[in-house]
Parts: sequence; C-alpha cells; structure tokens
Amino acid sequence: MRKQRGSLTVVSGFSGAGKGTIMKALLARYDNYCLSVSCTTRQPRPGEQDGREYFFKTQEEFDRMVEEDALLEHAGYVGHSYGTPRAFVEQKIQEGKDVILEIEVQGAKIIKQKVPEAILLFVSTPSAKVLEERLRGRGTESDDTVRERLAQTLRESGEIAHYDCLIVNDDLDEAVEEVHHAIQTLKHTPDRERAFIETLQEELRAMNAPKKS
Ligand code: 5GP
Repeated sequence: MRKQRGSLTVVSGFSGAGKGTIMKALLARYDNYCLSVSCTTRQPRPGEQDGREYFFKTQEEFDRMVEEDALLEHAGYVGHSYGTPRAFVEQKIQEGKDVILEIEVQGAKIIKQKVPEAILLFVSTPSAKVLEERLRGRGTESDDTVRERLAQTLRESGEIAHYDCLIVNDDLDEAVEEVHHAIQTLKHTPDRERAFIETLQEELRAMNAPKKS
C-alpha cells in the first residue's frame, strides 16, 4: 500500500445549511477524517465548549496569533474574527488524515491560493425559504443577526461557482455520503496526484532504459 499524505478540504456554506451536522455525522461514520477547530472572537453559543466547537479568543489574543503567523487563514464574518490554527492542520495532513476546514468563503479563497490542491465543497439548503426557516428555528440568534446572516448569504451565493462541488442538504444521510464521495474522488484527480504520477514516470523511465551489456 502506498503511504499517502492526507488531503485538505474546505467546506463552506450558508449559515444554517447544516454544515456542522453533516460534519459530525461524517466523522462518526468514517475514521479518516479530522475536523480542524477554529479560533473565533465571537461569544460561545449555549452548549458550545472552548476547544470543541471553537477556541474562543479575545480580539487581542486573536491579533497576536495573526502576528505570529499561527493561522493558516483568517477572515472577518458578521463583526467577528475567525481563523484556522496552522500547526494542527499541517500535522494531521502529514499523518495521512483527510482534514476538513469548515470555513466561510473569504477563508476558502485564501486556502485555495496557499494550497492549490485543496478541495472546495459548498453546502446549501434546497431553497432560500428553507434556509430562513432553519436560521430562525435555531433560536440562538436575534432577529438582527438572522437578517445580517441572510444578507451575508446573498453575497456568499456569488462565490459558489469557484467551488469544486455543490452539496444540497435536503436529506442528511445523502448529504454525508455526497461529501464523502466528493472528497474521496476529488483527492485523486491528476492535478492532486502529481507526486504519484511523477514517481510512476520515473520508475517507468528506469524500466524502459536500454540495458547495459
Ligand atoms: P458561526 O459563528 O456560525 O459558528 O460561524 C460563522 C461562519 O464562520 C461560518 O460560515 C463558519 O464556517 C465560518 N468559520 C468558522 N471557522 C472559521 C475559520 O477558521 N476561518 C474562516 N475564514 N471562517 C470560519
């Protein structure tokens, strides 16, 4: 069996599209995935734990991480800062894990520039109406925040075309399988398998070289 470096996948999607639920189910079903835990300056929602959903930071702590280049990417979202701790991601990819970053569209762009082989998936609800219902149904956000998040959604929809695959989260089970299938297929496209192809060609060249008598 060939020893492979892990892959890097960015999962973006509308707030309320169910990315978090899909990720939880994916991790429970398959062993090889690893979800990066981001840093944020927003307040924890009820039930969220420091180090599990996010590392909750003050703006000062966050800015220090940016200065120290400890974040692979960072972005502002609806008034707060969010960022991906670099060391954890690099270590897990080295260990062969398929690492997933659940991040918004600006962060996804930065990742694609820094890591061109990254796989980009976008999760949407089946319709705008369903999205609004899910956001309000969550009951953790004020009316203003829901409105802000819906406006953000419209801006984000313009970025979907830059992603590798769209996942429409109608049925959770199907969405989980679609994410799994997309990652396992896209990580083997020839542009992401350049190292393997080069090694194979070297071996073939050596095999085809004229034998010395
Ligand atoms: P929420 O506040 O709902 O947990 O997250 C708001 C948005 O920030 C979501 O779209 C989420 O995917 C995104 N996000 C979470 N962590 C990061 C991160 O590390 N970097 C970036 N760029 N976005 C993030």
